[in-house]
Amino acid sequence: MARPHVLVVGGGFGGLEVAFALRYLLKDRVQMTLVSDSPHFLFKPNTIYIPFGMEPERLLIGLERPLRRRDIAFLRARVTEVHPERRTVVANGNTIRYDFLVIATGAGMRPEAVPGLREYAYSIWTPQDMLRLRQAFQELLRTARSGKSVKVLFLVPPNNKCSGPLYEIVFMLDTYLRRQGVRERVQLTYTTFEGSFIQSFGPRLHEVVTREFERRGIVGHTQYVVKAVRPGQVEYESGKEEPYDLLIAFPPYEAGVRFVGLPSDERGFLLTEPRTRQVRGYPMIYVVGDAGDFPVKQAFLAFLQADTVAEHLALQVAGKNAFRGFEPVSMCIMEMLDTATFAQVPLVLDSPVAQVRPGAGELYRVGVSPLWRLGKKFLGKYLPFRFGAGNPFHMGLPWRTIEKGMKLMSSLLAR
Ligand SMILES: Cc1cc2nc3c(=O)[nH]c(=O)nc-3n(C[C@H](O)[C@H](O)[C@H](O)COP(=O)(O)OP(=O)(O)OC[C@H]3O[C@@H](n4cnc5c(N)ncnc54)[C@H](O)[C@@H]3O)c2cc1C
Repeated sequence: MARPHVLVVGGGFGGLEVAFALRYLLKDRVQMTLVSDSPHFLFKPNTIYIPFGMEPERLLIGLERPLRRRDIAFLRARVTEVHPERRTVVANGNTIRYDFLVIATGAGMRPEAVPGLREYAYSIWTPQDMLRLRQAFQELLRTARSGKSVKVLFLVPPNNKCSGPLYEIVFMLDTYLRRQGVRERVQLTYTTFEGSFIQSFGPRLHEVVTREFERRGIVGHTQYVVKAVRPGQVEYESGKEEPYDLLIAFPPYEAGVRFVGLPSDERGFLLTEPRTRQVRGYPMIYVVGDAGDFPVKQAFLAFLQADTVAEHLALQVAGKNAFRGFEPVSMCIMEMLDTATFAQVPLVLDSPVAQVRPGAGELYRVGVSPLWRLGKKFLGKYLPFRFGAGNPFHMGLPWRTIEKGMKLMSSLLAR
């Protein structure tokens, strides 16, 4: 192949990181096209601030300029089909050829899996959902200020693959209501199907959440598997019921796009070779981020997968780059508005369910401190800056410097 054509589908964390990392590693040795059905990158993790006043526009970065800067053709279109035998995809009815394909189309929600969830629960998936929640919080404040009590119920149903953000919302709401002087009129209850709180991240996160729930007067229940949602009441498989005035849920996940003909699980997530992120049986097709079968769906893990794919592709095209393979060590900062929790969690690579890697030792670290909020703020500015300038977030000297800083912070503020 003289100058292979790499086609990236999706302009989120995974898609942009692969595209920019590949340009960084291979310079002009590949031709690249990125197809996305949106003209913007959305910094989803910070949509948690929208219900508390942030405007969604602040979380968008236009794709066209940074891609042009890196000589990556941008096509705004929706990809609906992949034909591996012809090495083509279909986007808005047009056929595009590729030598290598990277699928990074993310995940979607399936609220219909739980009767009544779509009708009666607020969701936290899109910026529009978050704006609706903002209105609900304003209404909640008005009711509490009028002297009435309000019950707010949080719900994580089975097959949600990233429960962390809903924990952030309950902690942030607690702090927000305290600052507004109405916390004592609002009862906060949190129910999850998980065996422990934020189960994918293991026992240390469970301990932190349990402690914080106690400290803040939030009632928390694990192993509460929802059966149905009715007006004013949630029914669980055990026969228990919880009443609510306001219900906030993070629905079950499914793949953003189902690619017929490629191997996938029952929710449409593409099956991969764990170390390389190649689609099983299709070595010219890779999948990155929420679209793939890794059981935890997270931006940081999408970055690690994107780096893996860029390195593997660079090895195939140039023959001499280092290839480390996907090592799932998640990092996240859980916002609580008055403080924050940092977690670094090594996960098992080849398991259909999320598990902390046994014997992870020092690599598994968790800490609570208001200083971690600065880390979250910094990432909220730095990541859009990197992508806006057409650079990979997770590669090069700046990232290595940040990594050193985080290691230092984590040695002081996490155990
Ligand atoms: C409220 C909330 C808070 C979160 N907080 C965190 C956090 O603190 N830390 C963390 O690590 N993760 C967090 N996450 C998870 C994180 O946002 C996702 O894991 C991440 O966005 C996945 O990246 P991705 O590139 O796989 O998919 P996405 O970011 O969803 O991008 C998918 C891209 O594909 C495009 N696309 C979709 N379908 C098509 C199609 N058919 N054709 C062309 N383009 C298409 C979309 O427009 C989009 O550009 C949070 C998620 C939510 C909802």
